[in-house]
Formats: sequence, structure tokens, C-alpha cells
Amino acid sequence: MLNALTEQSPDKILMLMQAFREDPRPVKIDLGVGVYKNAHGQTPIMRAVKKAEKQWWEEETTKSYVNLAGDPEFSDLMIELVLGTSVARGNVAAIATPGGTGALRQAFELVQMANPEAKVFVSDPTWPNHLSILRHLGIEAVPYRYFDSATGGVNFDGMMEDLGKVSKGDIVLLHGCCHNPTGANLNLTEWQAVVDLLNQTGAVPMVDIAYQGFGDGLEADAKATRLVASSCPETLIAASCSKNFGIYRERTGIMMAVTQDSSLRSVVQGNLTHLNRQNYSFPPDHGARLVTHVLRDADLRADWLAELEDIRTGMLALRQQLADELQRLSGSNRFGFIAQHRGMFSRLGLTSAQVEKIRADHAIYMVGDSRINIAGLNDESVPLLASAMIKVGA
Ligand code: PMP
Repeated sequence: MLNALTEQSPDKILMLMQAFREDPRPVKIDLGVGVYKNAHGQTPIMRAVKKAEKQWWEEETTKSYVNLAGDPEFSDLMIELVLGTSVARGNVAAIATPGGTGALRQAFELVQMANPEAKVFVSDPTWPNHLSILRHLGIEAVPYRYFDSATGGVNFDGMMEDLGKVSKGDIVLLHGCCHNPTGANLNLTEWQAVVDLLNQTGAVPMVDIAYQGFGDGLEADAKATRLVASSCPETLIAASCSKNFGIYRERTGIMMAVTQDSSLRSVVQGNLTHLNRQNYSFPPDHGARLVTHVLRDADLRADWLAELEDIRTGMLALRQQLADELQRLSGSNRFGFIAQHRGMFSRLGLTSAQVEKIRADHAIYMVGDSRINIAGLNDESVPLLASAMIKVGA
């Protein structure tokens, strides 16, 4: 039987990580991987998370199952974190999931159960795993124009034109903040126009929010998601705790379904719980427990937020440094968009040949579409990257 299987195409980002590890050159820079790193190249455990873990170790008395939907307190706190007071709690169904990826997977499966004909409109480009999960589930993905490589910003007119073609009941997948892979984001006026268009067409928004707190701040980064959730009749949201709590390997996320028709909540909740049961039964608890401890304790929460702010402002400073250095070396402001981008990533707009040459000649690793992880840089590597980019003719 197993010999009927064919090779799966390898994940490009994971291949890049492997190539980086195997590169024997003493000075090498990894800008490929999608995790936050500090100036020393480490992905630290956040202080508040470490303290919460210690507390929980003292308090925990059993490893028995929790709930199929996860711990209700985790859901309440995460709903508050992402949605604030924009919608009534009674209108939100939610399940804990293994990471934001688990939340996306459950959301896509919910769509398939509710409307097997639904297509999912995705930004061009988007996080490659969106496409891969949709392909795996046999759901049609339709790209909409998003990134304008000439300006490094959003091609808003193209996006609106393409989203004008959605049908009622189709899904429009939107990155709530810190677009991955481009770093280019809509402003709130543009978000409002998207919401109006969604409401005209009857398409359902699905917001993927994996970097809340990494862009303009914890509250600012949630504004677009809140606008969508409070303005559209139905909104699906996949939120990840991997980045903003730094708990990647704990696999912590939440899938929320917001409906303005509160009579639907209970059936939606039942379907989400059913999906957890079918896919993995009980969702992981440890990471969710840490998040709950951090969010419900005023001191831990304040310390977490302070550290998250340091992470965010540190990345903004690196963006500015890189944009300034490129301006100095190129004598033009054509890379100014790097400072305007938000989140952990920026797409630099290099050709794949330039990306390859930077890797071959300078041991600087970035994804083939020229996406860099800003957090992979530090004071020493910013000038190295800028000079390598200019040397390859960027
Ligand atoms: N959405 C986007 C856009 C992402 O970049 C990621 C992480 N790379 C995720 C979702 C999911 O992250 P995780 O499953 O690790 O929580």
C-alpha cells in the first residue's frame, strides 16, 4: 500500500533552514526562518511566560483531559484580546486549536461543512501554508491582487477590483495585521472599503491574525479585525499565540466564529467542538494555560506587554536602520517601504537570481521571493545585507 505514495514537494522555508545549517561559512545570516530572534539570534522564552510556567507547575494537580473546546477561560481572554468590546461575547463561538495553523485548518473545514461550493480568495502572495492546506482539503483558492512590487505597498485598486468578483458565501482570507510575506498592510480607511465590499457581495471574511502586537501595538494591530467582526454578519478568525507569546512549540491558537445572529452561536459552537473531536479530540492545553495565566494576572500581563513592546520597537528600529543604510548606499529612497512595512517580514522586491547570488556570495539566506525576517537582523548584519543588496544590483 505505502508504495502507492508519491513524494510531497518539500517546504521551501524548511529546506532553506536546512541549507543554512549546513553552510560551513563562519559568517552567515539567516533571514529565512519565521520565528522572532533577538539581537543575539535567540528566540527567548518571554519573562511572563516563564513565570506563568513556574506557577502552573506548582498549581497543576492533574493531566486529565480538559474540554473538547479547550479551557473556557482561555477562550474568554483570547476573545477579549483579539476582539476587545467590538462584539458581544455571546455572539462568538470558539475552540482552542494547535497553533494558528490548527485554527486555520478548522476554519477551512467549517467552511467546507457549511458551504461545500465555497471558494477561498487569498492575497497574492500569501503565507504558502494557506494554499497548501486549501489544496489538501480540495478547496479552490482564488488569488486576489495584493502586493505592488513597484512601490512595495498594497495594490489597493487591483485588490478591490478582484474582490468585486467574489460570490455570496465565498470566503475572503485577510491578514489581520503584519501581512506575511510582504509586510505591506491596508490602512483603516482601506479596511473600511473592504468591509463595505464584503457586505455588498455577501462574501464571508476570514481573518488570520498571527502577529498581534508585532506591528503598531497590541490594540492597534487588532483594529482591523475588530472592524471586520463588528461590521460583517459573520466573521471567522484564526489567531495564533506562537509569536506574541513566543510559545511556538506549545502549539497554541484559537479559532473564533463571530455571528451577529446570536441564535446561531450554539450550533456553530457545536460544529467547532465536533471538528476538534474529529481531528485530534482535545486540543493541547499547556500553552493555552500559560497564555491564560499571563492575561489574567495584572503583573504578568504588564510585564508581557512591556517585553512585547520591546520586541516590536526593536524590529521597527531595524527596519529604519536598513532603510537608512540602503538610502545611503543607493542614493535613493527606493527602499523606504521597508520602514513603512509592519510585522516580522518584508518582501524586498529582489529577483530570484539576486536572492540566489546574495546567498552564494554573502551567505545571507532569505526566501526565494525575497522575503526577509527583520528579526533575523542586528546592528552588525544590517550593513552587510544592505551592501550585499546593492552589490547584486538591487
Ligand atoms: N498565519 C500566518 C500568516 C503565519 O505566518 C503563521 C506562522 N508562520 C501562522 C498563521 C500559524 O502559526 P502557528 O501555527 O505556528 O501558530
